[in-house]
Amino acid sequence: MKLLVTGAAGFIGSAYVRMLLAAGTSRGDDVPRVTVLDNLTYAGSLDNLDLADPRLTFVRGDICDARVVDRLVGSADQIVHFAAESHVDRSIDSAEAFVRTNVTGTQTLLDAALRHGVDRFVHVSTDEVYGSVESGSSSEHDALDPNSPYAASKAASDLLALSYHRTHGLDVRVTRCCNNYGPRQFPEKIIPLFLTRLLDGGDVPLYGDGLNRRDWLHVEDHCRAVDLVRTAGAPGRVYNISGGIELSNRELTEHLLDACGADWGRVRYVPDRKGHDRRYSVDDSRVRTELGYRPRHDFTSGLDATFAWYRDNREWWEPLKRRLPA
Ligand code: NAD
Repeated sequence: MKLLVTGAAGFIGSAYVRMLLAAGTSRGDDVPRVTVLDNLTYAGSLDNLDLADPRLTFVRGDICDARVVDRLVGSADQIVHFAAESHVDRSIDSAEAFVRTNVTGTQTLLDAALRHGVDRFVHVSTDEVYGSVESGSSSEHDALDPNSPYAASKAASDLLALSYHRTHGLDVRVTRCCNNYGPRQFPEKIIPLFLTRLLDGGDVPLYGDGLNRRDWLHVEDHCRAVDLVRTAGAPGRVYNISGGIELSNRELTEHLLDACGADWGRVRYVPDRKGHDRRYSVDDSRVRTELGYRPRHDFTSGLDATFAWYRDNREWWEPLKRRLPA
């Protein structure tokens, strides 16, 4: 089986490929041959992949480039699509790359998938497509109501992917997951940003009143859920994925300060992000009941292990931080 994985030089896609290849080693047999397509934006790093593994092929290329996409999709049985511009703050500064990669790139992949009749197309979406949810949790039947340019571009690609199922019968499956944490997340996202700043003896910027709420899931649990959807999900179906750990940013900051042995003196309140969604929450009973999914990582120990990873792997994140504005 030949699998094309887009965006797997990034945080979640690389964890997914490592999981697939590790499972193959332990089971000794049924690991797919994996081709990664990634154009190595600021968020992608080859250090995230074991390029020496003969089962893995890396192609540097853009998902908007119809020629390279056509060639790779033509020799793939299935596609798992992670590639995206993924940082909300950047989408507020400029939405152009978000529309290009997230919408046009997804359409380019879908067209090639249709042309070549791939078996399955797993589109990795996000809980942010539902917009801010003041109370309760979004179900897969709820209308999409995205607010940030990032979320709007992901909602567009999510609906486009589903339209290829409804219109053309392409086997598309969509996942909508909450916030992920774990090793190798680019240090502009809140958890690695705060951990690396605290490790460097600096302070951390907390948006607004710090009461925006997010649901957190370890990246390895997200990857297991994506693979369950790929292997056991149903065509045209959407699967919410939750961590069940809902925290305000203040509560999250408290955990991060604890992990680093720091106190609130290191926290600096900064003006809120424009249009900052107050809360995301998804009901993931479908993926639990239909596919038997359960997260395995406990949040506190997962966060401690994430802290330990950043503490012990400065050579991974220090060069990336030099690319960020001070
Ligand atoms: P990331 O920013 O760490 O990685 C994105 C990867 O895509 C990078 O390797 C980058 O080089 C690549 N890429 C970007 N534009 C490309 C293009 N035009 N062509 C080819 N490759 C390109 O993102 P992530 O956090 O790993 O997120 C992966 C996916 O999961 C995204 O689709 C995101 O919307 C979704 N998601 C993320 C989270 C989260 O908490 N991080 C939660 C739910 C869903």
